[in-house]
Amino acid sequence: MSKSLDCPLCDQAIEIQPSKSTKSGKYFIQLKCPVDARHFRGFIHDKAFVDAVILHYGAPADPQGK
Ligand SMILES: [Zn+2]
Repeated sequence: MSKSLDCPLCDQAIEIQPSKSTKSGKYFIQLKCPVDARHFRGFIHDKAFVDAVILHYGAPADPQGK
């Protein structure tokens, strides 16, 4: 199984970005095309997956103060 996921429009590798909801304070994973998020954007909220990705990539910065 390939680990990479490419944008169907521009063939750039999709960015996997751990994020934190400013509303609920819950973590989620954002997937997006680095060129233009309108090409491809996805959100994953499944807790087991989110926890695993955060373990791998590290927790996102706290959005407070933005
Ligand atoms: Zn793209």
